[in-house]
Amino acid sequence: MSAHASSSAVIRVLPERVKNQIAAGEVVERPASVVKELLENALDAGARDIRIDLEEGGAKLVRVVDDGRGMGPEDLELAFVSHATSKLADVADLEHIGTLGFRGEALASIGSVSRARLMTRRSGDPNAWSVEDEGGRIGPVVAAGAGAGTTIEVRELFYNVPARRAFLKRTSTELARSLDVIQRLVLAHEGVGFIVTHDGGRVLDVERGMDLGARVRRLFGGELAQALVAVAGEDGDVRLAGLIAPPRFSRSDTGRQMWFLNGRPLRDRVLVRCLQEAYRGFNDEKRQPVAFLSLSMPPALVDVNVHPTKSEVRFREERRLFPFLLARLREALARTDMATPGAALLAPQAARAGTLWPAPRASEPRPRAAEIEVREASGRGYEPGAAPLLAEPAPEAAPSPVLQVAKTYLVRELASGGLEIVDQHALHERVTYERLKAGLAAGRVEVQRELVPELVELARSEVAILEEHLPTLSRIGIELAVFGSTTIAVHGLPTLFQRRAAARLVRELVAALAQDARLPDAAELLDHVVHRMACRRSVMAGDELAPAEIDALLAAAARLPHDQTCPHGRPTRVRLTLADLERAFHRR
Ligand code: ADP
Ligand code: MG
Repeated sequence: MSAHASSSAVIRVLPERVKNQIAAGEVVERPASVVKELLENALDAGARDIRIDLEEGGAKLVRVVDDGRGMGPEDLELAFVSHATSKLADVADLEHIGTLGFRGEALASIGSVSRARLMTRRSGDPNAWSVEDEGGRIGPVVAAGAGAGTTIEVRELFYNVPARRAFLKRTSTELARSLDVIQRLVLAHEGVGFIVTHDGGRVLDVERGMDLGARVRRLFGGELAQALVAVAGEDGDVRLAGLIAPPRFSRSDTGRQMWFLNGRPLRDRVLVRCLQEAYRGFNDEKRQPVAFLSLSMPPALVDVNVHPTKSEVRFREERRLFPFLLARLREALARTDMATPGAALLAPQAARAGTLWPAPRASEPRPRAAEIEVREASGRGYEPGAAPLLAEPAPEAAPSPVLQVAKTYLVRELASGGLEIVDQHALHERVTYERLKAGLAAGRVEVQRELVPELVELARSEVAILEEHLPTLSRIGIELAVFGSTTIAVHGLPTLFQRRAAARLVRELVAALAQDARLPDAAELLDHVVHRMACRRSVMAGDELAPAEIDALLAAAARLPHDQTCPHGRPTRVRLTLADLERAFHRR
């Protein structure tokens, strides 16, 4: 019978080796994936110092040496066998997984597509053991000589899978990807030291004792590290800690935005959106804030078994988590220095001229806004609902005469030395924005009601989206009603809006709401609307301003909590400190 079956059967169970090679496709894409899996194993083994040696971007060799707990000979028999793990015994264990690995797939996958060798010794054991896996053929466990801890060498990745090998990129690209993985783990694991070499040369060296700030400085330089502000907070079992950068460091990609969950680097859409939301009003919406943030929470609150590489997770209490993170991030953001320093502005020019530009000294205090000092000294906050800005008398004399340049920029001397250049539109926009927000938040929304409502034609789906938000919108003075399946009637708008802007406002709202599946709250909607209003109601570049108007603008800005960027995140002012000027004129 079995002879009969084998002659006609077309379905067969694949040999273990082939299974692993296929599974390897999910876990091992390139050298960086090997680096990630081996580092995770070293960290799970409690390593305090880890060395990583790469050759040819990792394609020729990835070697990870750790001083973790090591393995005995019985464990070594299983290390390269698939679904063999010491970290999990039952599906129920997934509920409280505390290690970076748990699937027991990595070593089996890696061994099936490379020539791998593992040497290990537990600290109490008299000798070390080693085993090799050559393209899925696992050799015997043999005695070896090695120090305590584990060394894994992975050579010639994909030597037996030419199709995969052909997809590897240039050495520099593969190296960059490996370094990205390493950097994230370096930042996620304070208390662990890392040494990284490439083709024999040292590329990174991070000592155990370096804290997050020191690690960022080592990886990304002093200018960023110096500008970072600490974030910290707790909500029940959930803890947030880390560092965020002022908006001017934001980038077009999320490459310098790092979230860690219980030591695991994440790429999570919810968290990316959370940061963007926190920076809203201080950042161009297309730019991504720079931040290094660690979340810790009981493993039961999060599902990490969503994706084979475990870089995506599912939070079980997202609705509670989001507002908590947002509040802590906003609070920290307010403490960042949002001024645009003049040195950065001049530096490219110096480079062009071929002069040597001395780096700012680390001990140099950051330039502080003279206005902030005035505000703190006078103890006066911003009063909402004041008379229109430009008619307001200046409450205190401007510190020096102000020069309007090109009907756009205001230039003046600073009390602290140096000079400041203000973009009049950007600054006025920020002033108007804060004023409107305060007024609206305090419930003072003056609404202009129309006898004959303006009708706005929309798609059926758009009307449905708006309909959900009508009560929230009416609370901020936008009174809309559904007027048929594809029409919205505008009954009232905040007085600050011009009636002819109604259709555009409605369309902007629909676009903003459609972008986000979540129900935004009144505060978020308000913010969006206020942005639009502020822009339209501010002096423009090219408007000539009378001295009294200039004084009023600067004085109003001085009373704001934030005046360093416009609500879209453009800087409102650029400062040249005395030190900047001295450097520019080679006086030092
Ligand atoms: P997982 O990490 O998901 O358990 P791996 O295939 O990555 O699966 O590793 C298999 C097992 O080998 C681990 O569970 C662990 O017991 C052991 N192991 C792997 N690397 C190390 C290491 N560097 N130090 C000690 N034990 C290790
Ligand atoms: Mg692992």
